[in-house]
Amino acid sequence: MNARHQHTDALMWITDRPATAFVRGEGSWLFDANGRRYLDFIQGWAVNTLGHCPPVVQKALAEQAATLINCSPAFFNLPAAALAARLCALSGLDRVFFANSGAEANEGAIKLARKWGSIHRDGAFEIITFDGAFHGRTLATMSASGKPQWAELFAPKVSGFPKATLNDIDSVEQLVNPRTVAVMVEPIQGESGVIVASDAFLRALRKLTQDRGLLLIFDEIQTGIGRTGRMFGFEHAAVSPDIMTLAKGLGGGVPLAALLATEAVSCFSAGDQGGTFNGNPLMTHVGSAVVACVAEPAFLANVEARGEQLRQGLHRLAERYSLGDIRGRGLLIALDLRQEIGATVVDIARENGFLINAPRPHLLRFMPALNVSEREIETALSILDATLGEVISP
Ligand SMILES: *Cc1c(COP(=O)(O)O)cnc(C)c1O
Repeated sequence: MNARHQHTDALMWITDRPATAFVRGEGSWLFDANGRRYLDFIQGWAVNTLGHCPPVVQKALAEQAATLINCSPAFFNLPAAALAARLCALSGLDRVFFANSGAEANEGAIKLARKWGSIHRDGAFEIITFDGAFHGRTLATMSASGKPQWAELFAPKVSGFPKATLNDIDSVEQLVNPRTVAVMVEPIQGESGVIVASDAFLRALRKLTQDRGLLLIFDEIQTGIGRTGRMFGFEHAAVSPDIMTLAKGLGGGVPLAALLATEAVSCFSAGDQGGTFNGNPLMTHVGSAVVACVAEPAFLANVEARGEQLRQGLHRLAERYSLGDIRGRGLLIALDLRQEIGATVVDIARENGFLINAPRPHLLRFMPALNVSEREIETALSILDATLGEVISP
């Protein structure tokens, strides 16, 4: 580590990070220690649904902090009950278990499916997942993920996660056997590069799982809470899962996740599931404030409109610089650069005051705040234009 990093030396190294430390955020903007501002299209990794430090989140935190922060998971609390009821009404599912991260919600989904299999499917426990999938960084969720670089890591893996190919229903069907209990899928694979599971594929999965008596689990940790222009990604395909997980956008920046299930599948016995911080009033009250904003009639229309504006601008840039596809839905969008220049584009864009992410060496991902303005999208496109001009000689 160099001298500029000295004040961060006590943090365990897990990855290289830019020297810049951010000290303040407001809406779509982040400010560094030198007072320089950056247009943020990473937003805490598709987490800050309403941008940085939105007044409704500040207010919910302050209100709840002055009322009740944590009363122990041994007791009910009103904010958790209210958010659970709201999520059930919006999703059509019946029961909610709150968690603190996406991986933890997915662990809960895996446990619930295995428990259901032990009761209803003669001990079936295998969950079919997909190549390229990302479900988290605990041992079980890493095992459920289909990230090639993880295949040999932290052996022995948790077993019972055979991998199929996204958008290929035959590949799923071939893996079904008497040990199979569920299929788990992201409606859009976010981390592996914004790869959309087609509506036809999700409908075929719903039919296959129904026909074979299996559970369908949607990992909506990245796609849920308005990100794709609908409250939940599955609404595009008009199919509903038996189990769904939410995290990222649900807390609008605070650590909050949820595992939702139908009544028929909600089969935990006392002691099977729990957690000290789970469903604490402070986080769930914030979750309710965020969900209330996203559920307002005009909100998702703006996500669609801004997404369309961003896609059209990216199409113009793709033509100008001979780039590839634009993929995604709503405000989860990727641009294929056709060359492995993603990391360079990210670095130069940051120098130019624009924060984006390259989930793959040839790919840029855009995940702005869902209340991003028309003007901010224009600014983003013009900084990206200048950045691409510096990296690619036209
Ligand atoms: C981010 C993500 C996770 C993991 O969530 P964490 O909060 O980082 O544990 C799981 N699944 C999907 C689809 C994600 O995007």
